[in-house]
Amino acid sequence: MALHLFNTLTRAVENFVPLDSAGRRVGMYCCGPTVHDFAHIGNFRTFVFTDLLRRYLEFRGFDVKHVMNITDVEDKIIKRVQQRKTTLREFTGKYEAEFLADFDALQCRRPHVLPRATEHIPEILALIEKLIARGIAYQAADGSVYFSIEKYRGCGCCYGQLVNLNFDAMRVGERVASDEYEKEAVADFALWKRRVPEDGETFWPSPWGEGRPGWHIECSAMSTKHLGESFDLHLGGEDLMFPHHEDEIAQSEGALHYPPGRRFVKHWMHGSHLLVEGKKMSKSLGNYFTLRDLLAKGYRGREIRYLLLTAHYRAQFNFTLDGLAGARASLARLDECLGKLRELAGAASVPPEQALLMAFTKAMDDDLNVSAAWAAVFDWVTETNRKLAANQLTKPQAAAALEAWNRVDEVFGLGTARSDEVPAEVLTLVEQRQAARQAKDFKRSDQVRDELKSLGWAVEDTPKGPRVKRI
Ligand code: AMP
Ligand code: ZN
Repeated sequence: MALHLFNTLTRAVENFVPLDSAGRRVGMYCCGPTVHDFAHIGNFRTFVFTDLLRRYLEFRGFDVKHVMNITDVEDKIIKRVQQRKTTLREFTGKYEAEFLADFDALQCRRPHVLPRATEHIPEILALIEKLIARGIAYQAADGSVYFSIEKYRGCGCCYGQLVNLNFDAMRVGERVASDEYEKEAVADFALWKRRVPEDGETFWPSPWGEGRPGWHIECSAMSTKHLGESFDLHLGGEDLMFPHHEDEIAQSEGALHYPPGRRFVKHWMHGSHLLVEGKKMSKSLGNYFTLRDLLAKGYRGREIRYLLLTAHYRAQFNFTLDGLAGARASLARLDECLGKLRELAGAASVPPEQALLMAFTKAMDDDLNVSAAWAAVFDWVTETNRKLAANQLTKPQAAAALEAWNRVDEVFGLGTARSDEVPAEVLTLVEQRQAARQAKDFKRSDQVRDELKSLGWAVEDTPKGPRVKRI
């Protein structure tokens, strides 16, 4: 069977065929984080989903170029930079670094390109100039440049490709300046926002005066610069469908004048939200956990990753700490079986056992059906445990079974339990250091810190207590 993926554009599960005539290279763009705060694990549900897709494409032999932008200038960021009286780069640099540390802790493969919006101002200006030259964008009396939905539609282009819109409710020429708005308010949106005092020092020169880009044009400019005017896959969370992705299509297809049959993106995919008690996990609702909240509770990156990977990307998924405890138990069952296989297999190198790989591929080819893939894995665990208990596995058979799991894990990316476990001796030293600090014996606490360092661990004091990480 070939790989089948749901395409938001056609609202159907389609056979995935890349634009590359050789059928090998795949260009994939994922809308990255807005670096104004720590990302929550809802955000990471989307990033783990994009990582899963990238890894599965690679498993299937595609040569993937993965681009994920860093949104480092937009409305929320500017507001916070002003509130905290800092500079844009200092502020966004901190959250970008924190984001990447979390991304690594969840064992996501780093994208090949991580473009920052602020480093693409010339490309953004060039795209806006093209839209103005085609009569699709205009400078309004407020000095900002807007995208004209009416002119765009007048060119025979379709606004409302990812979502159905009610144009009868739209008043021609009505404008929206903020980056995020509701579907009911479909209106001309800002491409270039004229500098206002609240922007502080965040502005760039442009043919239309000093200002800054709108959020949507940033992604059109960065994706086409790094992947070309047409590329295969564009991903994000479901909230990005409108207006962000709809506007990206409009800007790119409006500016770049595609010949019939060609489009900006062939295949759009959107991940469903992570919920908490039935509501979207979000900063504004205050019902969120960051990754570091969970690590501080003693959960590990791979357990959180596993939990996020148990739900299909288009299914709603309710996050609970009980769910995380369940994830820990399931992983322990898997780890125990793998540990026994490793003991028996030794260093033997053999081709992978085919049954697990075939069941896994069949499931994943079906629009990344992780439920069926995990069912295949756990059936295999049961069967392997049975054979191990009955002494029915030879050394080469154990090695072949292990090799099959290693191939599956190239996609699931869980690694081995040993790689991220904190050894008991390290935990003991952390406790000793904590006791010394409480007794105000700082000489001793520094000594213990040095001992930890010599073992390859750094200790960090957080409001929730000490945290260790590998150096
Ligand atoms: P942001 O940093 O706000 O631009 O969001 C980064 C990514 O997280 C986007 O693709 C959003 O669609 C996605 N996202 C935001 N909230 C959630 C959630 N509760 N569940 C899953 N994805 C989310
Ligand atoms: Zn984007």
